[in-house]
Amino acid sequence: MRKPMIAGNWKMNKSPSETVALIKELKEIQVKTNADVVVCPMTVSLFAAAQALKGSEIKLGAQNVHFEDKGAFTGECNAASLKELGVEYVIIGHSERRQYFGETDETVNKRVLKALEAGLKPIVCVGESLAQKQQGITNEVVCLQTKIALLGVTSAQIDDVIIAYEPIWAIGTGMTATPKDANDTIRAIRGAIREVFGFASERVRILYGGSMNDKNANALMSESDIDGGLIGGASLVAEKFEKVINYNR
Ligand code: PEP
Repeated sequence: MRKPMIAGNWKMNKSPSETVALIKELKEIQVKTNADVVVCPMTVSLFAAAQALKGSEIKLGAQNVHFEDKGAFTGECNAASLKELGVEYVIIGHSERRQYFGETDETVNKRVLKALEAGLKPIVCVGESLAQKQQGITNEVVCLQTKIALLGVTSAQIDDVIIAYEPIWAIGTGMTATPKDANDTIRAIRGAIREVFGFASERVRILYGGSMNDKNANALMSESDIDGGLIGGASLVAEKFEKVINYNR
């Protein structure tokens, strides 16, 4: 009953003109699955992306949003401006934001609340470090991250939230969680959401991210609780992204 989602996180890649060129290639793809396809370019490329996506089913996402409406927050971007550009989704709390830009569970929560208030759908990233995995505390870490990120979210808003389980050790490394491990962790995350939101947890889409690509998408997407993917590197190459989008379950 959950609609799959394949979302590309282009990170700090693709200038506005390169964004338009890649979107042109992606628009040629015949989508054979029922997945929502989302691309998340750099902020500076969003305007060009919105224009290029006109007439396409591909949806637009941003990589971050600030929690204040406006003011002295140099380098940040507010939710209303993203909305005005035609952005529908926004990645929040990516591990690179947490690691390099001081994002915390608390700022992630504030950004989630602001995004929802503005009518943006947050793709909230959670994930454990290698050390946490080795200590056997993956589920505790990701469930706590999820619960804090969703503090104050109402039952009317929860259907607009997407969670991305992204083990930090798997991002950009070529190492992927096994489909079973990813599914088990995603089940645990769904359990944490159930504790707060009850049966609505069954409707929340939870993606896997971390070196998901054209080679492993089928196996990951075959798992019962993996509702899609947040894809970094493989989303920058149209042929690879096409194979992820058209995964075989
Ligand atoms: C990501 O950036 O969210 C990601 C999963 O990257 P990659 O697919 O390159 O590991």
